[in-house]
Amino acid sequence: MKLLFLGTAADDWYEKPEEELTDTDRRRCSMLIDGHILMDAARSSYDFARRLGVDTAKITDVVISHSHSDHLSAEALLKFRRDAGAPIHIWCHTGAVERLRLSEEEKQLFCIHPLTVGERFTVSGYSVLPLAANHGMPAPEQALHYVWSRDDTHLFYGCDGAWIMNESWRYLKDIPFDCMIWDATFGDVWDPFFRSKLGDCGHNTLSMLKLLIPMVKEHGCTKEGCIHIGDHFSRQTHEDHAGTEKILAAMGMRMAYDGMTLEL
Ligand SMILES: [Zn+2]
Ligand SMILES: [Zn+2]
Repeated sequence: MKLLFLGTAADDWYEKPEEELTDTDRRRCSMLIDGHILMDAARSSYDFARRLGVDTAKITDVVISHSHSDHLSAEALLKFRRDAGAPIHIWCHTGAVERLRLSEEEKQLFCIHPLTVGERFTVSGYSVLPLAANHGMPAPEQALHYVWSRDDTHLFYGCDGAWIMNESWRYLKDIPFDCMIWDATFGDVWDPFFRSKLGDCGHNTLSMLKLLIPMVKEHGCTKEGCIHIGDHFSRQTHEDHAGTEKILAAMGMRMAYDGMTLEL
């Protein structure tokens, strides 16, 4: 399983044209699996994929966590679809189908698969389990985390969402993960405005991850050497790139960055 991070930002990062971005800037959250499956497709995902030399004509599937605009862009979906020249499969919660921001005519260009929490589906040989994420979306949408499994390899993708919900933990606790990608939105650089948002925004802070990671390890649901990755970083509450990397390393985690690759 090959991962390429196309974006690792929370939605408070500036959206700049691709040519103006530096190595430590972050783009909207998205990840490419095995060169042809997208986990979320944000506005910046297409341009960055092209810049990295990804063959965008090969995209077959887009799996969507939720319909917030930092994870889902109709413009990006249509660009990938144009390059693919054939229907792309879109997988999203049943309550997100009406929030794809595609016209009825545009929807005909895709194969849209509505998902239900706890019901597995198959993408290119992966068995994928959608689980409820602790990230409040207006009804009828439920934000989703995903477990990707093939043979003995298991990946958790947990953006966006705060502390794991009880109904999701019932599934997660029995899966021997090789890699877990965590919402690490909020750092420890605070001001009262951000602290006041914490109650309703549905994201982790680094302090929460300091409790979560040992918890999953102690329950034995990770393999020895499981890689824990922080992703979806806010611009205004973290240290700079190097500072955040150091803090996460001390927590036994890796910091995701745009363009990072990983093979499981
Ligand atoms: Zn987000
Ligand atoms: Zn969100």
